[in-house]
Amino acid sequence: MQNQYWLYLIYLIASMSFIVGLKMLSGPKTARMGNFLAAAGMTLAILGTIFLHKNQEGHLIGNYGWIFGAIAIGTIGGWLSAKKVEMTAMPQMVSLFNGMGGACAGLISIVEYSHIQNEASIGITITILLGLIIGSVSFSGSIIAYLKLQEIMKKTFRLPAQNIFTIALLLMILGMLIMTIMLPSMFHMIILLLLSLAYGILFVLPIGGADMPVVISLLNSFTGLAAAFGGFLYDNQVMLTGGILVGSAGTLLTILMCNAMNRSLLNVIFGSFGGGNVAEGADNGFVGTIKSTTPSDVAILMKYAQNVIIVPGYGLAVAQAQHIIHELEELLEKEGVNVRYAIHPVAGRMPGHMNVLLAESNVSYDKLVEMEQINEDFSKTDVVFVVGANDVVNPAARNNPASPIYGMPILNADKSRTVIVSKRSMGKGYAGIENELFGYPNCLMLFGDAKQSITKVVNELKEL
Ligand code: NAP
Repeated sequence: MQNQYWLYLIYLIASMSFIVGLKMLSGPKTARMGNFLAAAGMTLAILGTIFLHKNQEGHLIGNYGWIFGAIAIGTIGGWLSAKKVEMTAMPQMVSLFNGMGGACAGLISIVEYSHIQNEASIGITITILLGLIIGSVSFSGSIIAYLKLQEIMKKTFRLPAQNIFTIALLLMILGMLIMTIMLPSMFHMIILLLLSLAYGILFVLPIGGADMPVVISLLNSFTGLAAAFGGFLYDNQVMLTGGILVGSAGTLLTILMCNAMNRSLLNVIFGSFGGGNVAEGADNGFVGTIKSTTPSDVAILMKYAQNVIIVPGYGLAVAQAQHIIHELEELLEKEGVNVRYAIHPVAGRMPGHMNVLLAESNVSYDKLVEMEQINEDFSKTDVVFVVGANDVVNPAARNNPASPIYGMPILNADKSRTVIVSKRSMGKGYAGIENELFGYPNCLMLFGDAKQSITKVVNELKEL
């Protein structure tokens, strides 16, 4: 069989591995295998292209020293940073890597445009320029997202007439795109590149911290789209399939996250939720008084409960309390208590954060129950143990129309007989607002670092 047919076969296998791998990512049991499968498919596609692809003159790519040198540098860099990264810093790493994908798509367009600027058909020119625009927006936007999440850039900037300014910039990009198509020149292409980079920066700058994952997911879909343009350009099926899959998966995730927060994408892009600018009336404050409790009281309450629901949140990840919470769960199960975890879709700082965290400590998957499935059960539950969660159990989302989280579906922890909240202080959650739950008559606060507090509860339980 000719090289080309082997290559088609490899691309077909790789594309199938992406689709099956992506499907497997949707469940915790199969996610790891799915990731491995898709990565294996990608490796196969890359090696196939390097060794089997022939150019129009029938020559193989060659330059193996350069190619494998670059692959080695990228692999070592990626491997080390993925090994080193803290779970809580995962969103910024995803953002940085996504930015690199956008930069690749942009660079491909720059190189290809410099080769063919005067000879290409309009179709090819448009494909290259769209890849350039979308890749550059994704690159600069992702870098700003990284700087914000890493807290290198601490402030949320908003120009006086930000929305008008960004729309004007978009129109300028459109105008420059038409001009570069009509009058091809490197100069026009560079202006288009600079405008696109500026748009990416301005687009992400005013967006508040809590909305960053939505933006990252959106930028991720941009990168996929830019890669798909590369697939068109090179007539490369696997690049096209991969790009389309990333583009559509990113779009779907963006929509799902917006739905989970009950907000529209436009509101995320043009609003400034989570940036710390909380409007007047946004907080109901505390109704009632704050009552604190002790580890020994918590141990007694839990030991004699029939049902306990644990609500994990961002603080569980900060405290790295996933192992000790699992130990608590096992101890309670031995005492005959039915223990489950209630998983809010935006608990933590990235989609699936709590699932990943709890999987790390081998919590059984069937104990993790999604919000829709468990919300009815809170009113029949003796004890709800909220560990480092705040916004996702804030009743203001239901009953304060002025609150920035109003309308976001929450876990009905407040409806249970007793709620115990483990957190260090009266500190706020990501949305920057008070939680009225803490003042409810059925709410007890267990102050302290979650890992230390739960360790004390576990020790008390062992003594009982
Ligand atoms: P949260 O509202 O951010 O609250 C986390 C709480 O954890 C804080 O109030 C903090 O209180 C406590 N905490 C921090 N360190 C702790 C420690 N060592 N021990 C015990 N408690 C600790 O978290 P959430 O309820 O999980 O809600 C997630 C929020 O992030 C939502 O607003 C969501 O929209 C947003 N968001 C979600 C995603 C996503 O994709 N999942 C991404 C970005 C943003 P103290 O300081 O008093 O301890």
